Amino acid sequence: MGVVLSWLVLSLVVGAIRSARGGSFWKLFFLSLLLSPVVGLICALAVPVSAKAAEAKQMATGDLRKCPQCAELVKREAKICRFCHSTLEPLPAESNAGGDNLSAAKNLAASGHSAAEISKELQKWRGLTSTEADALAKSAVDPS
Ligand SMILES: [Zn+2]
Repeated sequence: MGVVLSWLVLSLVVGAIRSARGGSFWKLFFLSLLLSPVVGLICALAVPVSAKAAEAKQMATGDLRKCPQCAELVKREAKICRFCHSTLEPLPAESNAGGDNLSAAKNLAASGHSAAEISKELQKWRGLTSTEADALAKSAVDPS
């Protein structure tokens, strides 16, 4: 019984490691369950951290933005995309000011943008989902 339990727990751990590295929790969980948590662990560590997870992290910190032409990530200050060499629109000063998303939203609200406009800007420049952007825009326009 103890062996089965630790097998299960180790499989869960392997799945968690994989999902922390941007992969599928369940795939590795079942792999560990069927073969062995040791095999699962090797697989979980062998696959590099997914580019998507790394991307999301960099976009969240506000260092990078998505090129509208080729959808590759470029530096926020970049004027030309380093992947497709298309000219990038300069970032609007107000949405660039302030480090975090909420202060960017507040700056936009202060300069007279509507919640819908702010939400659009946040999605475009900060890579937020529409749900996140809507919530931020709403709290920036009407803080009460
Ligand atoms: Zn590009």
